[in-house]
Amino acid sequence: MLALPLSWPLSDRTVVLMGDGAWLERKLALFARTPATLRVFTGGRWPDAADLADAALIVVAFEDRALAERGAALARTSKAPLNVVDYPDLSDFHVPAIIDRGPLSIGVATGGTAPVLARETRARIEAAVPPSEAYLAEFALAISPTMRARIANVDDRRRAWEALLASPAAELARQGKVTEAVEQAKATDFAAARTGIVHLVGAGPGDPELLTLKALRLLNEADVIVYDRLVGDGILDLARRDADRFYVGKERSNHSVPQDQIHDLLVEQARLGKRVVRLKGGDPFVFGRGGEEVEALRAAGVEVHVTPGITAALGCAASSGVPLTHRDHAQSVTFITGHSKDGDHSNPLMLDWSALSAPHHTLVVYMGVATAHEIATRLMRHGREPQTPVLIIENGTRANERRIPATLATLEQTVADRASKAPALLIIGEVVSLYHQDVAAFLETVA
Ligand code: SAH
Repeated sequence: MLALPLSWPLSDRTVVLMGDGAWLERKLALFARTPATLRVFTGGRWPDAADLADAALIVVAFEDRALAERGAALARTSKAPLNVVDYPDLSDFHVPAIIDRGPLSIGVATGGTAPVLARETRARIEAAVPPSEAYLAEFALAISPTMRARIANVDDRRRAWEALLASPAAELARQGKVTEAVEQAKATDFAAARTGIVHLVGAGPGDPELLTLKALRLLNEADVIVYDRLVGDGILDLARRDADRFYVGKERSNHSVPQDQIHDLLVEQARLGKRVVRLKGGDPFVFGRGGEEVEALRAAGVEVHVTPGITAALGCAASSGVPLTHRDHAQSVTFITGHSKDGDHSNPLMLDWSALSAPHHTLVVYMGVATAHEIATRLMRHGREPQTPVLIIENGTRANERRIPATLATLEQTVADRASKAPALLIIGEVVSLYHQDVAAFLETVA
């Protein structure tokens, strides 16, 4: 190491800043986030010995080297450590690139040699340490005296901290409910076995980069991961290596693990004290039976939280370049499923077909390939133009994404020719014409 990144408490301390312009403003903004009292000299004013006597730190921030040297010389009349911004040769200490998460701060230091590298590294750490860590740090700060008072032994205390940081109270803190979290933690017997928790997490439509930062964090913390057929391998590669994995995949008309057995598995693992991630394709609350899982877990008294994911409709629209709404082509969009609850494809959907058949309206059909013909027939019977364009998107956002254009009139044949079991959805409506630049030519090719 070229330099040692230290951490300097600034409560009840005074920091003296001298400088001008943007350079000074940047340092002011930084020190304003600390509890220090700031004494600022700018616009030709210089401190005298008394101003510097009680300084904990001195910062000189002039772009002009001569002014910086003058400030440094003044600072040297005091014993306080000195930082001269961008002039490491004049400085006692450097300020690292900082990731500010409230009481948790992370510094990236290069000994003043490569500030740009430090900033780029910081950006990567920013992404890895979500802003909610600030709440967690506040929570840890608040609960720390209680932990010390209650648990004398250092090893016991470390184990209790581990349990606490994985507990529902910590999850509450991450959501910003720090006061409630502290109360809940105080009411908990830290030494006892930790309580399990289930997170329903949306994995997005397939591309691992479409995971949320929160989903990634939960996957890294999970003891147990329960996942579906729709969750891509690339995503599981990002999960904690030693987590137990349960596949509960389902295929259409082939429910390999019945839903109530999934509920039982989640409840059982949570009761073992595990941090369970129930990973679901897309968003857990869009045609994902997430609502049923939440109900079952609550009924069993298991703590459950939901993390949203990018639903297939949004992923497929983005990857295929079909906007779901457009000022000229569609003022509303509806997501429907082509799969009725009892799985009877010949009788899809007690839906308001006349409303769904209105022009300038986009319809996205999940699980709709098997019933595509019935859906198209109903739409046309209720007045939707047979020439209305349709796009079938298979494996949307994945490397093997496939797009098959059709119209309502040709949909039955197109689906019959397709013969694939890959997940696919239908986008129906005028917006699909935007997928093909030349609408007329497009309609001719599929007519
Ligand atoms: N909760 C999921 C939907 C589950 S229902 C979500 O929010 O996306 C399963 C259906 O979603 C599939 O039959 C298919 O219609 C659609 N689907 C999911 N992933 C898809 C993908 N990558 N490409 C196309 N359709 C997809």
